Amino acid sequence: MNKNENGTDRRDFLQSGLLGTAAAGLAITSTSHVTAQTVPDAAEPEVTNEVDVLVVGGGSAGHVAAIQAGRAGAKTLIVERNSQLGGTTTTGGVAFPGLFDAWGKQVIAGIGWELVKESVELDGGQLPNFARVPQRHWENQVHVNQFLYAILAEEKCAQAGVEIAYYEFPQAVTKTDDGWQVDCVGFGTKRRVRCKQIIDCTGGAEVVGMLGFPRLREEERQPGSYLFMLGGERAIGRKQLHRLYVHGADSTNSRTATEANMTGRKSVLARVRKEKKRLMHLQPETGFRESYRIQGETLISVNDYTSGRVFDDAISYAFYPVDLHTKTGVRPKPLKPGKVPTIPLSALIPKGSRNIIVAGRCVSSDRLANSGLRVQASCMGMGQAAGVAATLAAKSGTTPLEVPLTEIHALLREHGQIVPGKA
Ligand SMILES: Cc1cc2nc3c(=O)[nH]c(=O)nc-3n(C[C@H](O)[C@H](O)[C@H](O)COP(=O)(O)OP(=O)(O)OC[C@H]3O[C@@H](n4cnc5c(N)ncnc54)[C@H](O)[C@@H]3O)c2cc1C
Repeated sequence: MNKNENGTDRRDFLQSGLLGTAAAGLAITSTSHVTAQTVPDAAEPEVTNEVDVLVVGGGSAGHVAAIQAGRAGAKTLIVERNSQLGGTTTTGGVAFPGLFDAWGKQVIAGIGWELVKESVELDGGQLPNFARVPQRHWENQVHVNQFLYAILAEEKCAQAGVEIAYYEFPQAVTKTDDGWQVDCVGFGTKRRVRCKQIIDCTGGAEVVGMLGFPRLREEERQPGSYLFMLGGERAIGRKQLHRLYVHGADSTNSRTATEANMTGRKSVLARVRKEKKRLMHLQPETGFRESYRIQGETLISVNDYTSGRVFDDAISYAFYPVDLHTKTGVRPKPLKPGKVPTIPLSALIPKGSRNIIVAGRCVSSDRLANSGLRVQASCMGMGQAAGVAATLAAKSGTTPLEVPLTEIHALLREHGQIVPGKA
C-alpha cells in the first residue's frame, strides 16, 4: 500500500476527503509547523560581508574553528558548500569521532569534545571511559547521532554569533591591504567577503590551492568509503553503518566527486538487488580520506608522529594509529605506549603565506603521518587552534604565525582545550 508523507494511505485520504474538512484537518495535524525568519534583501542576488575571520568549509575542523573565533570575539562567517555542518562526521556519515584520549587520559577536549559530549547525552548514548586503556583503539571512538550533531553545531554557531552561508563556495580570492577579498557563489547568491583572516577547512585545502601555494598529493590516494545500511536495524548514534570502499574516490572537484558518488550508489543498488535486503540508510555523499595536503612552514613526518615529538610551537595533541587504507584494506599500526603526537602551529600555515591558516586533514604532513593525523578529534583540535590564532591575528593586525604562542595557548586553555608543552 502506498503511504503519503503523513503516513496515511491513498484510500484513507479519499475517505477523509469524503468525510469533509474536519476529518481532513485531523490528517494535517500530524504535520507540525515552524516559520523561517525573513531573510533581509532575499531578492537581492549580491551581498557583501565585512568580517574578521572567514572560515571556508564547515566540516570536522571548520565548525569548531568558527565557533572558537566567534566565542573569542571575532566577527565570523562560515561558508559551506553543502547544506549542513559537520562534513565527514555528518554528511559523510563517519559519525564516530576519535580519539580524544591516549593512554588512560583525555588529550583533546575543547569545543569539539563539548559538541560530541552534548550530542551523546541528548541522544541518551554512552561515552567511553577514558581512564581505561582499550585493547583496540576504536573502542574509544565515540558514537554520535549525526543528525543531532549537525543541529547542535548550528546552534553553537548561532550562540557564538557566527553567520553561516550554505550552498556557497569561493570563486576568486584576492589580497587586500589588510587581508582578503573572497568572492563566493551559491545558487541565486553572489557574496563578496572582505576579511582579515581566512581559515581553510575544506579538507583538501582548496583556498590554498586557489592562491597558488604548493600542495602535496599522492599519485594513488587512499580509497573513499560510501556509508549505507542494508537490512537490519538503522541504529544511528549506536552502531556504525556499512562501508563500501570507493577506490579512486577523489574530492578534488565537482566532476571527480560526482564520479565517486555515482560509483558508490550504483554499487549499493547492485547489492540491494543481489541481497534482496531493504536499503535502510544511505549517506548523501562519499567520505573522502585523502586528497591534497598543504606544504606548510613545518611538515610533520611519520617519525615525528610515531615518536610523539613535542614541537616547540605545538598547539594540540593528536592520537590514532598510523592508518593507511589501500586496495587490500587497512592494517592500523598502533603507537607505542606513552607516545602522544603533537601538531605544531607552523604545520597549519601554507609555506610563504600570510593571513591564511588551515585546519583538518590537509595539515602539512607526510602521507603516513597524515593517515593518523586526519582523524576527527585531531581535526577538531586543529580547528580550535586555528580559530584562536586567526582571531588573535585579526585583532592585532598581524598573521597567525606571528601571534605570540603564549597568547594562543592562554586563549585555548580559557576555552577548555588541552595544550601540549609549557608556553
Ligand atoms: C570512510 C572514512 C572513515 C573514517 N574513519 C574515521 C574514524 O573512525 N574516526 C575518526 O575520527 N576519523 C575517521 N575518518 C577521518 C575523518 O573523518 C576525516 O579525516 C575528517 O573528518 C576530516 O575533517 P576535515 O574538517 O578536514 O574535512 P571534512 O570533514 O571533509 O570537511 C570539509 C568541509 O568543507 C566543505 N568544503 C569543501 N570544499 C569547499 C569549498 N570549496 N567551499 C566551501 N565548502 C567546502 C565540505 O563540504 C565539508 O563540509 C574517516 C574518514 C573516512 C572518509
